[in-house]
Amino acid sequence: MPQMRFAFDNSYARDLSGFYVPWQPQPVPKPLLLFFNPTLAEELGLEPTPGDGDVLAAVFSGNTIPEGAAPIAQAYAGHQFGGFSPQLGDGRALLLGEVIDRHGVRRDIAFKGSGRTPFSRRGDGKAAVGPMLREVLIGEAMHALGIATTRALAVVATGEAVAREIPLPGAVLTRVAASHLRVGTFEFFAARGEQARVRQLADYAIARHYPALLGREAPYLAFLRAVIERQAALVAQWMGVGFIHGVMNTDNMSIPGETIDYGPCAFMEAYDPGTVFSSIDEYGRYAYANQPSIAQWNLARLAETLVPLLADDPEQGVALATEAVNAFAEDYRHHWLAVMRAKLGLAGPGDAGGDERDTALVADWLQLLHHDRVDFTWAWRRLADAAQGQLSPLRTLFADQAALDAWLIRWQSRCAAEDDRGAVAEPGGAARVRAQRMRRVNPWLIPRNHRVEEALAAASDRGDLQPFEQLLAVLQRPYDEQSGAVHLAEPAAPSFTAGYRTF
Ligand code: AMP
Ligand code: MG
Ligand code: MG
Repeated sequence: MPQMRFAFDNSYARDLSGFYVPWQPQPVPKPLLLFFNPTLAEELGLEPTPGDGDVLAAVFSGNTIPEGAAPIAQAYAGHQFGGFSPQLGDGRALLLGEVIDRHGVRRDIAFKGSGRTPFSRRGDGKAAVGPMLREVLIGEAMHALGIATTRALAVVATGEAVAREIPLPGAVLTRVAASHLRVGTFEFFAARGEQARVRQLADYAIARHYPALLGREAPYLAFLRAVIERQAALVAQWMGVGFIHGVMNTDNMSIPGETIDYGPCAFMEAYDPGTVFSSIDEYGRYAYANQPSIAQWNLARLAETLVPLLADDPEQGVALATEAVNAFAEDYRHHWLAVMRAKLGLAGPGDAGGDERDTALVADWLQLLHHDRVDFTWAWRRLADAAQGQLSPLRTLFADQAALDAWLIRWQSRCAAEDDRGAVAEPGGAARVRAQRMRRVNPWLIPRNHRVEEALAAASDRGDLQPFEQLLAVLQRPYDEQSGAVHLAEPAAPSFTAGYRTF
């Protein structure tokens, strides 16, 4: 059988001994390839770009360990729903190794669902087909939307059942990440009082993810600020597309700033800031509108682990950490407003006082959506039509026409003020340019929950991958109107969404 070649270079295993346990995936009885991501494989420089499903299934089930891999289970802790678990770790995952991709970026290649490890606690170390294909759909959708994310390289069905409420077909996912360093990795060593290891981890993270900070005067403070800045930018992007992560525990917050761990996540349909889909999130801790403040809370947990590195005097260390965490609010506001301005078709802040005025313009728009329970994705997309004077598609979404009209007048005058300053000579040119710009940031389609569930049920219950493949294909181009896929872009009936729970 031909071998698949990865040019592994495993810096985590090499540089951070004591931060993981070497471990092997559990062999699976009947590997069958369900999904493979050739574009990503190409980007990773995997050779030869393989066409043989059996070779891929053997490698991406963990049955054949490629040359140069050094599988390890990583240690980490985490605050889960606010409570601290000092030892979580890779209970059903393994880092296979790292490769340098075609852009020179180091990427982790990891399994999920590859069997028990020393971190499994009471878990079986396994994963099911449905949730792993769900991670493919949502993760690839996020990537296509332009949002930083881990990505799926392959999914292999194992041929064995996993014990859940009902037995489900098992699967192994291969996930690619900038790294699997989490806030929880820092917490693991800080909680054990292993300060030297926290420093070692921070040095590793800086070298790998924030190399511009190497040799700075206060590198650890700069590192903390940089992580905070990236999370502020990331969460602002989530808010812009209505993404609800669902389980923002500190072990699911990535140090390089990628969206990671697609468990109970889902996209909002009718706008409601209180939206929660996860059945385990009983109190709505991770509701849509709470995501920025939860991100900040998580970053405070990271900051706590770094306090001893920030200054010799503990009080000064705490003061610096606090200041950095407090700065999240302003960073976030800045990123959120940039995202929302772009969605409104505005190129810039305009005049003095523009931030307050535009913040109110967005808030009032969202208020209208909430009041009339308007589909978040469609409202924004049809606002692009409105920018070109086609108002009726937007109008049909709203019950309160007078309120909509009053808001539209404010928005149009804000757009007109911007057009007066810029110069697009041709008549109607500014409107056309604005509408085009808006369609590049306001998706025509997001993964609709009922369509995701249909695709997963077909794959998991009937072994029919066709709906999954079709949905995945249209999600690759979320900003393009795809006339053959209107049924996949439409919102679910409100009755579906009202009762929809992930997990
Ligand atoms: P998650 O909620 O997926 O972020 O996982 C939280 C923790 O539970 C991590 O330490 C996982 O490795 C562990 N875990 C989740 N599911 C399983 C499972 N089926 N078997 C063993 N460990 C698991
Ligand atoms: Mg996790
Ligand atoms: Mg409400």
